[in-house]
Amino acid sequence: MSREELYQLQKLDTRKERLKRTAQNDLEVQEILELTEQLEQLKVEFETREEEIMQLNKEIKEKEFNNARLTRKQEEYKDKLYGETTYSPKELEDFQAKLMKTEENKEELEEEILELMLLLEQKDEELGDLKEKISSKEDKIEKLKEKLMNKEESIKMKLNKIKEKKIGLKSRMEEELLKKYNRLYTKKNARAVVKLEDNYCMGCRMTLPRNLIKKVKQSIEVVFCENCGRILYWEKEEE
Ligand SMILES: [Zn+2]
Repeated sequence: MSREELYQLQKLDTRKERLKRTAQNDLEVQEILELTEQLEQLKVEFETREEEIMQLNKEIKEKEFNNARLTRKQEEYKDKLYGETTYSPKELEDFQAKLMKTEENKEELEEEILELMLLLEQKDEELGDLKEKISSKEDKIEKLKEKLMNKEESIKMKLNKIKEKKIGLKSRMEEELLKKYNRLYTKKNARAVVKLEDNYCMGCRMTLPRNLIKKVKQSIEVVFCENCGRILYWEKEEE
């Protein structure tokens, strides 16, 4: 059992935690949620627009029906005015007035129909735009989901590798030491094994007594910092 293995174990534990955090704070997840919300909004708008278009079509149809009725009336009065049947001047005057009134109404109605048609055209265009926006959002969401799935897959694979390596390391460790390490890892915020650098414990930044330093540097046995209780690790510098 060596400190080297404990240090490696800590590296694996840290990497594992980092990977899990990455998986949790996925930007893709956040983006997918935002896009889905926008998509819902667009779908509501789309439905509203469809409803409006239906309403407009109905109104136009009604007005066109009325217009056809007015056209028939117009023809009737014209027939009476210019047809073969003879009427009294009083009657003719009356037909003339009615014809004029009908033509006036007709003109007004046709203007209204035209306005509604223009509005319908505009709404149709908006509907088309919305349809495009919806499909582009759906595409984006689809792609993000795929990206996320690949990412999660890769994280899962990395985590599995870490797990295997950990099993290998643990099998060579004494159970008691492993327990100590795990306790320290939790208590010391993922820093159970710390480096000894320039006679300092890098965990608590205290200078260590000479005999302890010697022990750390000379043996491979596990040495704890007198001050903070962490396991001290020393890397021989390459010269
Ligand atoms: Zn310390």
